[in-house]
Amino acid sequence: MTHDWLKETRSEYDVVVIGGGLAGLTCANMLARGGHSVLLLEQHHNLGGLATWFKRKGHIFDIALHGFPVGMIKTCRKYWNPEIAGMIVQLKGIRFDNPQFSFTTTYDKEDFTRILQERFKIPQHSIESFFDTARNMNFYDDQSMTTRELFERFFPGRNDVHRMLMEPITYANGSTLDDPAISYGIVFSNFMSKGVYTVQGGTDQFIGRMRDELLRNGVDVRTKRLVEKIVVEDNKAAGVIADGKRIKSKTVVSNGNLLSTIHKLVGDEHFSESFIAEARKVRLNNSSCQVYMGIRKGEKIDYIGDLLFTSAAGKFDSQELCSKNTTSRTFSVYYPQTRPDSDMYSIVASSNANYDDWANLSEAEYRTSKEELTERALDALEKYVPRIRDKVDYLEAATPRTFQRYTLHLSGASFGTKFEGLKVSMGLPKEIPGLFHTGSVGIIMSGWLGAANYGVIVANDADKFLS
Ligand SMILES: Cc1cc2nc3c(=O)[nH]c(=O)nc-3n(C[C@H](O)[C@H](O)[C@H](O)COP(=O)(O)OP(=O)(O)OC[C@H]3O[C@@H](n4cnc5c(N)ncnc54)[C@H](O)[C@@H]3O)c2cc1C
Repeated sequence: MTHDWLKETRSEYDVVVIGGGLAGLTCANMLARGGHSVLLLEQHHNLGGLATWFKRKGHIFDIALHGFPVGMIKTCRKYWNPEIAGMIVQLKGIRFDNPQFSFTTTYDKEDFTRILQERFKIPQHSIESFFDTARNMNFYDDQSMTTRELFERFFPGRNDVHRMLMEPITYANGSTLDDPAISYGIVFSNFMSKGVYTVQGGTDQFIGRMRDELLRNGVDVRTKRLVEKIVVEDNKAAGVIADGKRIKSKTVVSNGNLLSTIHKLVGDEHFSESFIAEARKVRLNNSSCQVYMGIRKGEKIDYIGDLLFTSAAGKFDSQELCSKNTTSRTFSVYYPQTRPDSDMYSIVASSNANYDDWANLSEAEYRTSKEELTERALDALEKYVPRIRDKVDYLEAATPRTFQRYTLHLSGASFGTKFEGLKVSMGLPKEIPGLFHTGSVGIIMSGWLGAANYGVIVANDADKFLS
């Protein structure tokens, strides 16, 4: 007999939040703290969305985590609790290794200034004006300048410098040299303020504590509950349909993919033609591939850095970074201190990817391509961890198809949409009062920090609507 979970729910909520990614979780928490009744429906069995983990054969792997800016501490302290904020620690060893340069950095303004001067021989005044320009960019600035133009202005013809400045940001939010410079400037300056941070204790503990906090604040949290439709009545959001059942609410916040929220969950017929025309222009961001490597119990890995940006490509090229056979990837190394209660090591190789390169492969081709992806990652890692194949006792690969399957993001988009998505996301409540979207959009609102902060912004908007 199937369990009728709806018998345990209220007849109506102030808010239904669809999706438990970092934006949905933060939004739900803020609204519950503000005294609203909140139901959170997540289709997966875990909360966290892309910020997630999985366990296999004694190993635990974190998924979407190279690192985020220091601002995450303040966000977690203010909108979650001090215990969650206290889990965030700095990653000190950020290593670059490619044909153009090789060095280790703390990835902050001071160290980057030193490297730009000493290694790349860039004059001090150019470095300072670049940092000032990047730091002073804001959403309301001229959006027509691209990152490529920004770099050419300060470091003309210096592909090596462009690579050092851009490559980590491309991994952090999928942006390219042709995206608006402001999306680069805001994210880069966030990182440069104090370097790269991560979660000590692992994503499982981090999201687990968020779940506890949601429950303490009275959020009704339901996992394994797929929302099929957002109900619109009299041109207002009026609830959702999940597992074929109607749940009433005064507002709905979708943390699902922006385009599926509009075209699938709501339906084009509920929007004005001009809004749908704008939505059709929104481009999804790229997807990712990952290779998870579990190191056999008892084996040790010497310290090789926390986060390695490696590539065999002679020059930086955003397209090469996403191509199926890219040689550009990051290695996130999880030493035992990542999870102080464990003595295990693991390494995750991540690369950016295009969904279309993976979408239409036959099952046999897909299997072979995954094996090749894994072998290429091991070959590249051999340089830093000799005999890596002897040390590994568990291997698994994820592709854009995997990301699509687990998060329902169209085309397995890892970072939501390109820049134009932000305006469309923010425009939803003007089209359908009571309907909000939160989650990775527009590059700026992407990544762990961007998504959590967007959750707060949307919670404030929904709170105003409810009151
Ligand atoms: C490989 C990889 C590496 C990354 N590395 C970094 C990094 O180093 N630093 C960084 O800051 N960011 C990184 N990111 C990006 C970051 O993880 C995401 O931007 C962020 O976690 C997205 O949060 P979100 O709230 O937008 O939504 P998501 O995490 O996408 O969550 C959306 C949730 O909604 C649920 N959902 C969707 N539709 C429905 C439905 N109909 N019913 C119920 N539930 C639904 C999904 O199951 C999912 O849980 C990385 C991403 C990837 C893939």
